[in-house]
Amino acid sequence: MEQVFAPWRIEWIRREEKNPDVEGCVFCELPERDDDRANLIVARGEEAFVMLNNYPYNPGHVMVIPSVHTGEYGDLTDDQLLGHARLKRRTFAALEAALEPDGFNAGLNLGEGAGGSIGDHLHTHVVPRWHGDTNFMPVIGETTVIVEAVEATYDALHEAFAAQEGATVESEERAVRFG
Ligand SMILES: [Zn+2]
Repeated sequence: MEQVFAPWRIEWIRREEKNPDVEGCVFCELPERDDDRANLIVARGEEAFVMLNNYPYNPGHVMVIPSVHTGEYGDLTDDQLLGHARLKRRTFAALEAALEPDGFNAGLNLGEGAGGSIGDHLHTHVVPRWHGDTNFMPVIGETTVIVEAVEATYDALHEAFAAQEGATVESEERAVRFG
């Protein structure tokens, strides 16, 4: 019998830390601000946005986050589910274009028992994987290197999102809706 693959046992599920500049929910507050690059918001779509993880398991580790504040997957409306799913599709494509990974782990931590927290704001982790990448963090080691790696990844990924067909249409729609 084949061994069951259990991606959720990997340790990045507990690597999320609150941004010290944010009082409330980081996933609600940062998209309200103007500086997407400083806040690592790499793309915005309908009903959702993509943020690079500050404590990446691998280069290109992002979170696809519904814009609405809820920790209950069942609370998402059909429009919110669709917006989130569409942005996930764009995220896989952008990561493939920018980083050429060999595969992905993608998923949600729902509930305390899974590493989530009560009152959490839903976010789907997407982690690009390469053959033999088992432990990126200890290899990199120093914080300064990680920061540089995150900034370089941001630029590459932002460019890949911007190059996607339909990206301009979405940002124009957004300007109409939120402008
Ligand atoms: Zn929130």
